[in-house]
Amino acid sequence: MGKQAKTAIEPTREENYPEWYQEVIKASDMAEISPVRGCMVIKPWGYALWENISRVLDDMFKATGVKNAYFPLFIPINFLEKEAEHVEGFAKECAVVTHHKLEQDESGRLVPAGKLTEPLIVRPTSETIIGDSFSKWINSYRDLPVLINQWANVVRWEMRTRIFLRTSEFLWQEGHTVHATKEEAEERTQMMLDVYKKMAEEYLAIPVITGEKSESEKFPGAETTTCIEAMMQDRKALQAGTSHFLGQNFAKASDIKFQSDKEIEEYGWTTSWGVSTRLIGGLIMTHGDDNGVILPPRVASSHVVLIPIIRKDKDKQMVMDYTNELAARLRNTAYYGYPIRVEIDDRDIGGAKNWEWIKKGSPLRVEIGPKDIASDSVFVGRRDKEPRDKSAINKDTFVDEVGNMLDEIQNTLFQKALAYREKHTRNIDDKNEFDAFFTPENKERPKIHGGFAVSHWCGDAACEKQIKERLNVTVRCIPYDQENEDGECIECGKASKKRVIFAKAY
Ligand SMILES: [Zn+2]
Repeated sequence: MGKQAKTAIEPTREENYPEWYQEVIKASDMAEISPVRGCMVIKPWGYALWENISRVLDDMFKATGVKNAYFPLFIPINFLEKEAEHVEGFAKECAVVTHHKLEQDESGRLVPAGKLTEPLIVRPTSETIIGDSFSKWINSYRDLPVLINQWANVVRWEMRTRIFLRTSEFLWQEGHTVHATKEEAEERTQMMLDVYKKMAEEYLAIPVITGEKSESEKFPGAETTTCIEAMMQDRKALQAGTSHFLGQNFAKASDIKFQSDKEIEEYGWTTSWGVSTRLIGGLIMTHGDDNGVILPPRVASSHVVLIPIIRKDKDKQMVMDYTNELAARLRNTAYYGYPIRVEIDDRDIGGAKNWEWIKKGSPLRVEIGPKDIASDSVFVGRRDKEPRDKSAINKDTFVDEVGNMLDEIQNTLFQKALAYREKHTRNIDDKNEFDAFFTPENKERPKIHGGFAVSHWCGDAACEKQIKERLNVTVRCIPYDQENEDGECIECGKASKKRVIFAKAY
């Protein structure tokens, strides 16, 4: 006793959080680094998660009237030039296509040839190319609103990459809408932010704070950027989704005009909003532990893994029949609107199987051996409990209860993440306390610091900049959920009406 049980993932979160993150992804077999610089390979266990997230989101979008469409991967350079702030924001990370064919040189090596007269950008986001289509689709107020979403990949040439969190190519959805009035566009911006909050909290079990970005953190070209922000287990913030009110900026840049009901020509009001495969990184960092990933049931790649235990050949048929019958019954059971997703792991590798599924984060593991079958029961392990905490449950009871068990896990994960965030969120009104909060307690240890500081800020970008330079801490958002109150800016002491969330960020 006394000695801690060895964990499946080394280093542990406490020992080295960034390395733990890399190791936990490797151990879960969700994704790997590709030979292409800054790009990832998403493996089936990770891709299934993305499919489930996409499916839920897609249903939620469509319920608000949004329709899917698809636009080109390439954007002519002059399209990007149309919106000044937008250019500035994205120019530094654009992949540019300059040639359209390959030729062999004298030594037989392939070299680019056929230089393009106008280079093409690989989309970093699609406001400008979609805006061009919208300008042709929209003539009259009768054509509005236009509510479009695209499921796609985008490319941003990142210098420092990390799987799921920041990769040069990533998968996402981008919604783009046009409205006749400012109010309607603002309403849509909030509506989609609410969809993201629901997705994060009810499906990913990640508690989020909703609010607005400061001027310096908003989307290039937007009037306002709203966001959902989550706390990871190293107490850093992750921006998990954004919804932008673009005013008439992009409508003017792309010439999106319509005849109003009073026959006056007006510019449209646009919005855009997106979430990406980054959500998977957020999910891993919110729920993972020192034994691996923990998947929230409502989006889990698989809900239940059945592990037949076969020690003697003569038992094989019986155990497999029992397992297959149970799988069929489970697959006929619905959980949160979709059939229960079941894996059967019948590989002949003994006890290692159980640990593999713990590392992969399957919410429920079910062992089925001859002894269990004799008593018509199954041996169930829950991923939110200790790996050795397993219990025998009557098979029929298990089928009846599986949905409740999954929901219990889902709720446990959310409550645990919420408690963690609350524990590491503090209202701070004293500058010394603020600085101490963001200074690592022990320089030898990984960069563990306080968490979220909820402090007054005067709104001046200069204060924001000073704090960033001194502590590498930024304004993550100006939360909606607060009353105006009189306070003093944590940096300069000037009067302030609102608190903001200060944190280190991914
Ligand atoms: Zn200030």
